[in-house]
Amino acid sequence: MTALLNIKALNAFYGQVQALHGLEFTLDEGSVTTLLGANGAGKTTTLRAICNMVRTTGAIEFDGAPLSSRSTENIVRLGIAHVPQGRGTFTTMTVEENLQLGAITRSKSGVAADIERMYAHFPVLKQRHTQQAGTLSGGEQQMLAVARALMLRPRLMLLDEPSFGLAPLIVRDLFKILGKINREDKVTILVVEQNAQLALEIADQAYVIETGRIVMSGRANEIADNEDVRRSYLGY
Ligand code: ATP
Repeated sequence: MTALLNIKALNAFYGQVQALHGLEFTLDEGSVTTLLGANGAGKTTTLRAICNMVRTTGAIEFDGAPLSSRSTENIVRLGIAHVPQGRGTFTTMTVEENLQLGAITRSKSGVAADIERMYAHFPVLKQRHTQQAGTLSGGEQQMLAVARALMLRPRLMLLDEPSFGLAPLIVRDLFKILGKINREDKVTILVVEQNAQLALEIADQAYVIETGRIVMSGRANEIADNEDVRRSYLGY
């Protein structure tokens, strides 16, 4: 399998504070990868580093080409969509306007069909298409944030704690849809999670990060069976 994203010796800094220390990992094209870790381990920073939103040294290659000299906007145009923690939908705009905005970097052709495709993935968004995003439930807003990111037609989608603050049933639904999007729309996914259980169920590959360093990596099912992982992240 070819690597879509290849990260080597990645360090990240907030001023004098170093948040990532020599991170190395790859994402196979078409795979789902999860990055697990406790609060403050550096998961969000890893996603921000890929999008060039934090100062880094080291190498990040997307489809064989270096990303580090590119602006965040340019990285989005290359096909990397970032769904940050806390959703970030435009709350005073309707669901449909949010989806249209997601396609802003593309040509107009196919946008209407893609919106219908998003409604097929997330029927609740169709029911609410004229409703202001700010009036949606937390789960619906998270679905809208994912759908909006997909409107870019990304090759890679970065998701930061999509389960945060959502009821367990909604989280299960959301992860099921993410698995479907990966299989049907061929989107490579990197999902950062504290809620490891579901992330490991849909993932092919997993990495565990502690204090800015990768401490474990492997197939998701092997990581799920690891005793330390079970104790620290799965709670059994
Ligand atoms: P969480 O689940 O709490 O978001 P995380 O694994 O995503 O945790 P990061 O947010 O990436 O962790 O933080 C990694 C480290 O970088 C932490 O020690 C954090 O305190 C530090 N850090 C994060 N953002 C900043 C910032 N803006 N300024 C200074 N230090 C920061």
